[in-house]
Amino acid sequence: MNETNIQRSNFDSLMVPAYSPAEFIPVRGEGSNLWDQAGKHYIDLAGGIAVNALGHAHPVAVQALQEQGNLLWHLGNGYTNEPVLRLAKQLTASTFADKVFFCNSGAEANEAALKLARKVARDNGQPGKTGIIAFNNAFHGRTLFTVSAGGQPKYSEDFAPLPKGIEHVPYNDLAAVADQISDETCAVIVEPIQGEGGVLPADADFLQGLRALCDKHKALLIFDEVQTGVGRTGDLYAYMSYGVVPDVLTTAKALGGGFPIGAMLTTDALAASMSPGTHGTTYGGNPLASAVAGAVFKFINTPDVLEGVRERNRYFVEGISRLNEKFAVFTEIRGAGLLLGCQMNSRFSGKAKQLTTLASEEGLLLLIAGPNVVRLTPSLIIPFAHIDEGLQRLERAMTRFVASQAPQS
Ligand code: PLP
Repeated sequence: MNETNIQRSNFDSLMVPAYSPAEFIPVRGEGSNLWDQAGKHYIDLAGGIAVNALGHAHPVAVQALQEQGNLLWHLGNGYTNEPVLRLAKQLTASTFADKVFFCNSGAEANEAALKLARKVARDNGQPGKTGIIAFNNAFHGRTLFTVSAGGQPKYSEDFAPLPKGIEHVPYNDLAAVADQISDETCAVIVEPIQGEGGVLPADADFLQGLRALCDKHKALLIFDEVQTGVGRTGDLYAYMSYGVVPDVLTTAKALGGGFPIGAMLTTDALAASMSPGTHGTTYGGNPLASAVAGAVFKFINTPDVLEGVRERNRYFVEGISRLNEKFAVFTEIRGAGLLLGCQMNSRFSGKAKQLTTLASEEGLLLLIAGPNVVRLTPSLIIPFAHIDEGLQRLERAMTRFVASQAPQS
């Protein structure tokens, strides 16, 4: 290998094998178009796993990056900066929150939220109020605390001993929460739609019931909106469509449109527990990340863009349903906005990955969410012509997929 001859095989020789990336290497993107080293074109419906909310290289994000890049990149938290204060104002003006803590990823935002919950209880003179209720199948990130809050033991069990005091109960099962919760519970953490777990939406009465239980036991209700946030569901944040206001909300992914940034949003009263020195991170609220996020957030947070997300949802659901009438691969197409999950039927159980691999051969990037769900998280402003082109490529992939699964004679 030299600097001009980079190949996929270099990944295996150079990188910690924590991922097994596709065999091709994308080199350029524009909107929902992507090209690999060989010049092959892809329609990108994966969106960097719900991150590239404006697609690739959107001029608004590029301009913010270039302008701030020429001004000031980084300071450290001994100084504040203009872009971060602007972004904090945007976030608090548009949500329930009064205060923001910035970090670099979804996991870090959740880590901050869980630490805040324990600190608040301690500050209130209840050091024993440490219990956290989380849900089976949930995903909250990969730090030790957040992977322990996640409800998929395969991600946490190899790293034991894990932090204590986290109990998991079935998602959408309010009675199970009512059985588990007590005055020793400091927080309930929940995704309004479980993303990695299979694009499973919460029932409205479940989230409303959680709110009531948290109020009764003085526990914080933490909404993990890392995947659902910043317009993904057709609302700025999913909590807005459920009519349930959390105490703490975490956001990342789409917030930077591809530039790494995360944030924890909360109220004045709760934020007071994070006094100077309590928590921090070198890059949190870095001017470069904040400037890009500010531009992306401003672009998305308009009635037109949000209505466009809902419109594209209908268009995708109709289009995929039409294909499914022909191929009978999915039992259900669910989710909200442009967080869509297609559940494989029993005939194709466990084969979501095979379908997405065929799709990439046809020039279409899709995701999975577990072995049985094909997931789509495209740009929130993907042009309809690209959706049409994507669906045509999906049709070709489904044709090959169904044929490859036919009983051999
Ligand atoms: N929370 C949710 C709901 C997520 O979907 C993810 C990532 O997929 C995370 C947290 C972790 O975010 P990050 O990978 O940025 O740490």
